[in-house]
Order: sequence, then structure tokens, then C-alpha cells
Amino acid sequence: MEAIYIPLLLKAASKTREIKIDEFIPGLDSLTPVRGILSIAHGGNYLEVRAAAETIITQICDRCLANYNHRLSLETREIIWLDENADKQETLPNLEKEVTLEDLSEKLHPRGYFDPDSWLYEQLSLAMPLQKLCGTDCQGTAIATSDTQPVIDSRWATLAALKKKLSP
Ligand SMILES: [Zn+2]
Repeated sequence: MEAIYIPLLLKAASKTREIKIDEFIPGLDSLTPVRGILSIAHGGNYLEVRAAAETIITQICDRCLANYNHRLSLETREIIWLDENADKQETLPNLEKEVTLEDLSEKLHPRGYFDPDSWLYEQLSLAMPLQKLCGTDCQGTAIATSDTQPVIDSRWATLAALKKKLSP
């Protein structure tokens, strides 16, 4: 998707641009294109970005290591502050200055660009499940259950390997 020149939003109807999403997002390894709606509204000193989108991604189960498909859906709203100093902050960090809550939120220069692709990538990455399980009834694998066995001291393992080598 093309980056949006922020001042142009002021000329759009209701100062809002709606984009239909139906494409693969660079960097996001999804099985199907990301589909949904993205809207960017100019609120004077901020942008209000809303998205409702979904896609299917292939995940590896944490428990049995099998591949499975997961429907990743996103419904979010974010405020991005427009700040004349937005692009200066990264090059000139002021260590003396106290970090305020506002500093932690995302900022863009009022005459800069909003990049829908990287914003969507970020939001979809945040929506990824922390624990990946192929199903609630996943039984795991033999490897996964081996952690119930006593841990073998690595020195014994070396000895066992040596024994194996010496045995005819
Ligand atoms: Zn599993």
C-alpha cells in the first residue's frame, strides 16, 4: 500500500481516508492476503487510525511442533500524535528530559507520511497469540513429554557415549 501524505488527509472528505485492504503485508508470512478496512482520520494534531482486518497464518504448535493454521483477526484503534519534532527525537535523544507518557506513544511529523503497511504489520504482530497450540486437545509429542523424566547429568551422558564407543 502506498504511504499517505498526512497533509493530504485534510483535503479528504471528513478528513478521513478509508482503504480497503486485500493484500499481503510485507514481512508478514500469511497464508492468505490480509483483508479488511483501514481508516485514517486527521484530527488536527493527531491521526486516528482504525483497522478491522483478518488473515490466516501458519503457526508451529509449541507442544507438538505440528504446523497448523490460525485465523489472525485484528480490530483496533490507535491515536498517533502529530508533532513537528517527531523526526528529530530519534537523532537527538535528550537524556536530561523526563520521559512522559506522551513520549511513549507513536508520533509522526504533521507533514510526514503514514505508512499503512508497517502500521498493519506492527498491529498484526501484536495480535499474534503468545502461546501457540494447535488445539485444546493437543497431546504433545514424545519429546514434549520427556521433560517428566529425570534430567541426566551431562557428565553421565559423556560417559555413556564413551562406553558406547568402547563396547564392541
Ligand atoms: Zn499441538
